[in-house]
Amino acid sequence: MAEDVNPFESLQEQIDDAAVYVDVKPDVLERLKQPERVLETNLSVEMDDGSIEVFKAFRSQFNGDRGPYKGGIRYHPNVSRDEVKALSGWMVYKCATVDIPYGGGKGGIVVDPRNYSVNELERITRAYATELRPIIGPDKDIPAPDVNTGQREMNWIKGTYETLENTTAPGTVTGKAPTSGGSAGRVEATGRSVMLTAREAFAYLGKDIESATVAVQGFGNAGSVAARLVDEELNANVVAVSDSSGAIYNPEGLDVADAKAHKNATGQLKGYEGATTEFTNRDLLTEDVDLLIPAALENAIDAAIAEDVEADIIVEAANGPLTPDADEILADRDVAVFPDILANAGGVTVSYFEWVQNRQRFSWTEHRVNEELERIICDAFDTLTETYEATDAPNYRTAAYVVAIERVARAAKDAGQFP
Ligand code: GLU
Repeated sequence: MAEDVNPFESLQEQIDDAAVYVDVKPDVLERLKQPERVLETNLSVEMDDGSIEVFKAFRSQFNGDRGPYKGGIRYHPNVSRDEVKALSGWMVYKCATVDIPYGGGKGGIVVDPRNYSVNELERITRAYATELRPIIGPDKDIPAPDVNTGQREMNWIKGTYETLENTTAPGTVTGKAPTSGGSAGRVEATGRSVMLTAREAFAYLGKDIESATVAVQGFGNAGSVAARLVDEELNANVVAVSDSSGAIYNPEGLDVADAKAHKNATGQLKGYEGATTEFTNRDLLTEDVDLLIPAALENAIDAAIAEDVEADIIVEAANGPLTPDADEILADRDVAVFPDILANAGGVTVSYFEWVQNRQRFSWTEHRVNEELERIICDAFDTLTETYEATDAPNYRTAAYVVAIERVARAAKDAGQFP
């Protein structure tokens, strides 16, 4: 893994690559490459033994020209200022690609949540929410889950914000539990848009998804749901999946639900009995499959791995899983890469539905959520492929950025310059 590739530089390179095809002035472009502001804070939190520990935390508000800043909060020991900046920029271009009325933001705490008790995590989260309070809110900046956070953390943030503001404002944060104002379909939304993108990609390229072999790197919320849905709804054949404990492989196909049950019971995929072989992460990424879904962290596929990738199609469930060099190599090798800012946009799209429902104090059915999500992802897919065909863009990522940069630059221009 290319850990030395700075994701913020990758983001800027992706913007520059696409800017060539967009009529955007250099001064406007410069603004679209930098966050508007970044909060950096040190949270002092009391541990269960009475000691105080300090946690570095960030929130980057990248661009708000199309609407409130929007994006998740990550708990991970490798969270850094530049990673959060990159992830917040990817949110801007993601929301623009699927044309939902948001800007982009992202937050993170440098913490390995496995080392802390639930009570400690609650205090860490509430300390962070207290720091965020002046800058978040339903019309300002709306956090959501990301790596290692979920409904529990979102409920704590909502509760802290509402208590301190002496109000009810469920639209301050999305990805909440349904009993606290969360939306039906939100938990599986990221995996669902990955499945929809894979379905559209295979149809567009004239390939058959039924019985196609699939490898999924990462078995968290995005990867495990994507694996289940390509299996259940598209009848594809998931042959390999991995998590941080290692990868498992069965050429006849894995029972995804059973593998998930094993992971829920033991905390890891390793040791799952329905697999014929235990694989390394690299084996999985370079296995000869029809579809590869990277669903873990940034930079999973670097130049060296890209040379050895045997998949025909890659659909990105993670944010930024390919380094820019890998992207170039895969384009030269005619591997079709469908980018994160389309493929995993289901999460933020259903977050948008959750926010709309919160504002109206009216809940949609899961059927309605999934139907509206499908429409948005399929429309965005069509716009992306039309743009790809109409320009000389070297790959689908650049085509997606062309669409997104045009939309963001237009909103920035309409807003004018102030102050
Ligand atoms: N963390 C998710 C992402 O990277 C979801 C963000 C949201 O729902 O606001 O897209």
